[in-house]
Amino acid sequence: MRPASASPRCARAIARHQRRHYGIELDPDREVVVTTGATEGIAAALLGLIDPGDEVVVLEPYYDSYLAMIEMCGAVRRPVTLRAPSFRLDVEALHGAIGPRARAILLNSPHNPTGTVLTIEELQAVAVLAIEHDLIVITDEVYEHLVFDGHQHIPLATLPGMWERTLTLSSAGKSYSFTGWKVGWATGPSALVSAVLAAKQWLTFTSGSPLQPAVAHALDEEPGFPAELARSLQSRRDLLVAGLSAAGLDARVPEGTYFATTDISHPGWSDGREFCLALPERAGVVAIPNRAFYDDRDAGRHLVRWAFCKEPDLISAGVALLASVDLSR
Ligand SMILES: *Cc1c(COP(=O)(O)O)cnc(C)c1O
Repeated sequence: MRPASASPRCARAIARHQRRHYGIELDPDREVVVTTGATEGIAAALLGLIDPGDEVVVLEPYYDSYLAMIEMCGAVRRPVTLRAPSFRLDVEALHGAIGPRARAILLNSPHNPTGTVLTIEELQAVAVLAIEHDLIVITDEVYEHLVFDGHQHIPLATLPGMWERTLTLSSAGKSYSFTGWKVGWATGPSALVSAVLAAKQWLTFTSGSPLQPAVAHALDEEPGFPAELARSLQSRRDLLVAGLSAAGLDARVPEGTYFATTDISHPGWSDGREFCLALPERAGVVAIPNRAFYDDRDAGRHLVRWAFCKEPDLISAGVALLASVDLSR
């Protein structure tokens, strides 16, 4: 059965993309569903695969829609904290978060907001635990192409024993800078993809039909665009990180994504929310307090997220403003 929700051309282009980049062979009729951005992919995956009372193990800081959707499913989140300053995966903590009611791990790499790209060793540890506990893994890979300094994104689905239990989500939004287009996709074994489709049927059924052929064109005809975008983002990252550091805010250099995180305890603040509320008036700049993305508020209280998916001139102007004012509490 071909999902009527997708343009056949778009589904085939997504299958070709997965083969070209990762050697993953997909049947575009049964193993690809086009979603209204990755956001609907997340919603439909959780609604289709998770039952009330199930536990979902999720990395924190988390992308905000994960929490909303886990709650709408009546499920329970079990966060695993990526801790500053390294933001690496703590495999012991992951193991500890998997209880008897665990049904799925919701993974995100490259990770928003920390910029961590999970290494092959970290992914292998996830795979071992998922197999041992018979869990599904829903993996949000929207930043798959936006990695820097030779870091490599490895889809979890390519690890031994993982294909049959992994649902991979992505989107044209980040890879092609089409963030308003909302054309995303879920790929994986047909048993998982059909669960997404069953939920999507009652969410949107279909969307973005005039955009899907354009996304197919981008995937097929402009395969080098995302790498070019990553190179440009890397230089904008460097501009932001150097500028933040000149303003007294040392950032951890992100390995991927659009975001850099700083610890604001050096200029004397203890609460990122308070810092972010003061910032527009002090410097004419806005940032996001990371504590909003944590259950463990203490782990994120002193952290603030800055975006570099902006024009270089704007980044330079923003960091110049930060350097020109007193940022201490
Ligand atoms: C931006 C983002 C999304 C949403 O992608 P859309 O295709 O725009 O819906 C999903 N997950 C993460 C981690 C994101 O940063």
